[in-house]
Amino acid sequence: MIRKLISRVFRGKKATASHHEPAVIPVSTHGITRDRLSSGSRRTCETLQQHGHKAYVVGGAVRDLLIGADPKDFDVATDATPEEVRRYFRRARIIGRRFQIVHVMMGQETLEVTTFRGLLDEKTKTDEHGRVLHDNVFGSHAEDAARRDFTANALYYDPATEAIIDYHHGVGDLKQKTLRMIGEPRARYREDPVRMLRAVRLAAKLGLVIDPDARQPIREMADLLENVPPARLFDEMLKLLTSGHSVKCITQLRDEGLHHGLLPLLDVILEQPMGEKFVMLALANTDDRIRRGKGTSPGFLFATLLWHEVLAHWEKLKAGNGAKIPALYQAMDTVLDVQAEKLAITRRIAGDIKDIWSLQPRFEQRAGKRPYALLEQPRFRAGYDFLLLRAQAGEIGMEVGEWWTRFQNADGDERAAMLLPEQPGDKKRRRRRKKPAGTGSDSAANP
Ligand code: ATP
Ligand code: MG
Repeated sequence: MIRKLISRVFRGKKATASHHEPAVIPVSTHGITRDRLSSGSRRTCETLQQHGHKAYVVGGAVRDLLIGADPKDFDVATDATPEEVRRYFRRARIIGRRFQIVHVMMGQETLEVTTFRGLLDEKTKTDEHGRVLHDNVFGSHAEDAARRDFTANALYYDPATEAIIDYHHGVGDLKQKTLRMIGEPRARYREDPVRMLRAVRLAAKLGLVIDPDARQPIREMADLLENVPPARLFDEMLKLLTSGHSVKCITQLRDEGLHHGLLPLLDVILEQPMGEKFVMLALANTDDRIRRGKGTSPGFLFATLLWHEVLAHWEKLKAGNGAKIPALYQAMDTVLDVQAEKLAITRRIAGDIKDIWSLQPRFEQRAGKRPYALLEQPRFRAGYDFLLLRAQAGEIGMEVGEWWTRFQNADGDERAAMLLPEQPGDKKRRRRRKKPAGTGSDSAANP
């Protein structure tokens, strides 16, 4: 009884604390008309509103529209429960356990629909560092706004009225190019340390300055990232690296002391002059591709970030008289194993990374049939791009890369004329292998 009463009083208090009236900013002021939304997000809000619910486009999309950027995707917040949302749409399914959200499919689009979340209270489960583990309590619109991370991310757009509902002065902060935390930054970072990474990423991507109150604690709280599950860190790292602003993000991560413990080797890499040059070139390259609307592969990215660690291990193993190719494979495994403890690189991506690395020594072989076989490799293009980066960074000479550039574009006769003379050792090795395998395929770097 008493417990219940206390908790009701508590809850009452917290609710009033966040229960100030929001600013309702009309379209005549903010200028964003509903046709700027995706049709899926509009229809989703309409359907929910027709069933008597509140429904808004929320978060990154509203923020990006205000800043003049193209939203990546549209999220919807509503007071309907996940079960209700699912019933209103023909193609919808509930996903997630920690937070239940509903994926609503509208044509090509998938909308993420979340039910307003309630405030954390004394019953919220956390780990020993204060990180919130379980959080599925529904709440009011005001409570939902208070639970979001930055003021610029707590804006709600109502497609019916074209008004923006702003509980935390987000529109004003955005205008002043400030990324400001809702609530007390230290407490918010303890609840979820990933917010530190989000601060850096969003600031870099959107050209915002992290408010000093939110920026200052990052350095001293960086260690909290060690308790975040590796899969979440991996997702966030991937978002950061594919934001189109990765150079800025990585530079700022380093400035804030956040590169330690993320990719455990990233700090080591950035401190080796060769490694840093290579990583920065690769990131600039990726940023450029993304901004021009070309895709990138996570495998390629992570392959570049970790390459100089592989090289270092490889050199050591070769110096200890390891055979060249097996030593490379051993070095690759060592580097990926160390990463796996912190960052859950998915198995598929790890496979892509290994493909790219293991192709590298094969580019040196430019005699006989091997170059033709390499051209046919499904990962040839990625391996070749990687080779060019190594050359640009000065790790290897330009000559091999240029040879491959010409070889790809040459016709049959030209190609044949380009081949280097076979080394006597090459032939012998190949013949020896040919017998038991019974095929002529090259597999020097692909045991
Ligand atoms: P992006 O452009 O990367 O999609 P985003 O802000 O939309 O940026 P999402 O991860 O899609 O990021 O999250 C959607 C919204 O959910 C955010 O705008 C924010 O309101 C809220 N949110 C996301 N992550 C957190 C978090 N860790 N803590 C609090 N609120 C969060
Ligand atoms: Mg988003």
